[in-house]
Amino acid sequence: MSAPLVNQAALQQAAEQRIHTGHESAPFLLALVHLRDLSRIRRLHGEETARATREAVIANLQRVLRPADCIAPTQDDEQLVLFATLRSAHEGTLRLRELYEAASLPLNIPVQEQGSPPVRACALTIAAARFPQDAGDFAALEQCAQQTLPLLRAESKAFGFPEKIDRPSASEEQERERFDFEQRLRDAITQRTPIRAYYQPKVRIRSNEATVHGFEALVRWQDGGQLVSPGKFITVAKELDLLDALAEIMLENIARDLDGLRDVYGEDIRVSYNLSAAQVTDHDFIRRQTRTIRQHDLARNLIIEITEDQYLPPESLPPSFQPGVESDHLRIAMDDFGTGFSSLAMLARINIDEIKIDRALVQDIHLKKNHQHILNAIDAIVTRLEIPHAVVEGVETYDELKYLREHVPRLDIIQGFLFGHPEPVWHWLQHPLDAQAILAKQADASSSR
Ligand code: C2E
Ligand code: MG
Ligand code: MG
Repeated sequence: MSAPLVNQAALQQAAEQRIHTGHESAPFLLALVHLRDLSRIRRLHGEETARATREAVIANLQRVLRPADCIAPTQDDEQLVLFATLRSAHEGTLRLRELYEAASLPLNIPVQEQGSPPVRACALTIAAARFPQDAGDFAALEQCAQQTLPLLRAESKAFGFPEKIDRPSASEEQERERFDFEQRLRDAITQRTPIRAYYQPKVRIRSNEATVHGFEALVRWQDGGQLVSPGKFITVAKELDLLDALAEIMLENIARDLDGLRDVYGEDIRVSYNLSAAQVTDHDFIRRQTRTIRQHDLARNLIIEITEDQYLPPESLPPSFQPGVESDHLRIAMDDFGTGFSSLAMLARINIDEIKIDRALVQDIHLKKNHQHILNAIDAIVTRLEIPHAVVEGVETYDELKYLREHVPRLDIIQGFLFGHPEPVWHWLQHPLDAQAILAKQADASSSR
């Protein structure tokens, strides 16, 4: 039996009964579920679709509620949920997560407009207040839930709540396109198969020898007939709170592709994948990833590239990333070094296995004096801090490679179109990369110029 759907007054009465009889012995949780997308769905697809969406989400919410709980729709696209009894604060956290996951289950609400995909999901935010810790009467609890929104958002990764998004105003046409794009992306991530890892080689050059050092797994989305690069959808996936699901798909791809890569390129071939700064500081998420990594025995080949899209305090990293922790030791690379939020403090504080120097610093390096000075400084840091591996990203021309080899030979791992574009795994298995041949050919071409 699922939790009853009641009106607001009945929910309030149920809560007040508990307040008057139970106190500490009967703690409960009042949650506020705000269906943020509903107004957009109403605007784009009409009242009928919005109503059907709301009913479908409520039905999903009811699935994880218990008979003693209740749920009441209010105005403003909000639903109140009363979790009637809780044994501990931890149970409250678990139940909220369950609620959030239920609310995020895929929907299938048809729309009138031809060519538009059905509504697959409705973005939402959940806030909550606990009795008796947060407030002692119903009105105060409700207010507290409203006000804890920013607080919960600070812990947002723990609950997976998407952040509130302020978008610039758009025409109806743009809004519809954007909404359809979001629905297709959600669909793709739910189905999993349209999302695939492509692999780009990293080549190590020592004296005159070029060998394949590893591959970076880069996500691609097969959207109908089009192959979409992450630049076009990662930000949207982040806003929709889909990055964790994406990372899981990437790990599954790597688990499936690794045997082939080991066969062709050796048992120790390194494969890296990208996690955002917010993901690596979410200890719960890292625990789940670690479980998958262990399950598929990936750890000895795997590198996590941290793409720093926000400042990342070293102390916020999970213990398994801290120096000296051997169990489940996950190797990490600092991506996009030299741009964005990459910090020198991070380098000093944690064990970095690989530093990846951003293409912005490397493009036409042979012509740019200031960039050359910066690269020399990075070379010194890598040497002094004994960072095991340094990758130079985005090398496209032999002139760039030549400069790097002559002036900063310790930055000796090259990733760039010069050696290979990101390709599906079968490409690298059927046509093993002969890095040595490319190096020799490039050198010949250059000397004959
Ligand atoms: P990144 O991790 O720094 O990856 C390198 C990007 O540079 C890739 O773009 C790659 O195709 C591109 N690149 C490599 N060599 C060259 C070159 O010689 N010239 C030029 N012009 N570009 C080159 P891509 O695949 O579009 O990825 C862009 C970014 O998206 C990645 O940058 C990474 O930050 C993010 N990303 C990729 N896959 C994932 C993923 O699975 N999860 C997350 N969270 N982010 C991802
Ligand atoms: Mg990367
Ligand atoms: Mg990079």
